[in-house]
Amino acid sequence: METTGPHILTVNTGSSSIKFSVYDMDERSLLKGEIAGIGRQEGSVRVFFSDGSICVDENTRIESFRKGAVVVTRCLEETGYVGSIEAVGYRIVHGGMKYREHCQLTEELLEYLRDIAHLAPEHLPQAVEVIEEVERGLPSIPGVACFDTAFHRDMPEESRIYAIPLEFYREGIMRYGFHGLSYEYITDALCACGVPLDRVIIAHLGHGSSMTAIRDGRCVETTMGFTPLAGLVMSTRCGDIDPGVVLYLLREKGFSADRLNLLLNHGSGLLGISGRTDDIRKLLALEKRGDERAILSLRLFCHSVRKFIGSLSAVLGGLSTLVFTAGIGENSPEIRERILDGLEFLGIRLDTERNRANQKVISDKQSRVMVMVIKTDEERMIARHTKRILNGEGR
Ligand code: ADP
Repeated sequence: METTGPHILTVNTGSSSIKFSVYDMDERSLLKGEIAGIGRQEGSVRVFFSDGSICVDENTRIESFRKGAVVVTRCLEETGYVGSIEAVGYRIVHGGMKYREHCQLTEELLEYLRDIAHLAPEHLPQAVEVIEEVERGLPSIPGVACFDTAFHRDMPEESRIYAIPLEFYREGIMRYGFHGLSYEYITDALCACGVPLDRVIIAHLGHGSSMTAIRDGRCVETTMGFTPLAGLVMSTRCGDIDPGVVLYLLREKGFSADRLNLLLNHGSGLLGISGRTDDIRKLLALEKRGDERAILSLRLFCHSVRKFIGSLSAVLGGLSTLVFTAGIGENSPEIRERILDGLEFLGIRLDTERNRANQKVISDKQSRVMVMVIKTDEERMIARHTKRILNGEGR
């Protein structure tokens, strides 16, 4: 089978998965796939065509990211897309101090990513492995690197700098911010429907959660920091905690760096508090049965989002639009309602019916703040940048 292009392949490497999509030049998605559970006992490969029909659906062990990338190119061969791919766009979690904008992939950039792997040890080494393998499978096809940190590159210094001696900032210890591709997609979507970007907060609430504040189209503050561990209470990450807690665990409890990493990145947040699960749907079900730890975990989560809506509104000097996005933000009316409860003083008035129906605008007509639910699409954003950069177009 042969499929005529030109097409763009997008590759999004996570901490245990690779998501990939094929787009045409009008941003229509033709094929979507996910290789999940990489390195685990039980992995899976699921690939769908744009009409929803299944292309591959199997449970299989995928030992490494390199093997996962081989599955991606094999899948392109089997579906006939391999010859039509003109460019590959990669999601890269971190561009360090040097790569602040999305750009064409070069050997020099790959080398830099290998050098800064310690900045995102759970993402960058895997992403580099996947790039190497996809480049082997699709030789001489140009690549574009899309950085999750790029959206936040122009944050003012008071938002970027940690109040530790300034030398650390100069060597790159600063707030970078993440989820940038999602924020870019949402701001493009707001522009497309004529919503002004004067004072906007976007709440990306998924497995990883963060929020960002946009004034006059520019990102001015965000909740994640040097790493994606900071800010909101998340599924398994702790979010903001007093660094004194880390010192205490190191000194008094004999924690090693690896054990601390496991605790703060994988054993905290909703999972750590509930002791049962990090999935909001399951936590809501447990709450109905009176599970106290589940109740507490949901209270902590909503409180943390509410607190940051307040502080980001203060940074913006007011709020005109609040957007919920990602798994929890898009799909959970209960959680949105709880977060917004008590924020009437900011001018937020929820329309309960519209909220329950997951409508695009969920505030009522009297609300001074427009509250919206918009589905994010990071892969589409990668395809958009890839086309733009390879065509030599500006932003
Ligand atoms: P990721 O950050 O891995 O891309 P997602 O944005 O897909 O994650 O969000 C995953 C989370 O979304 C899940 O952990 C789950 O808690 C939540 N979620 C998904 N669907 C629903 C739903 N219908 N109701 C409540 N929560 C949901």
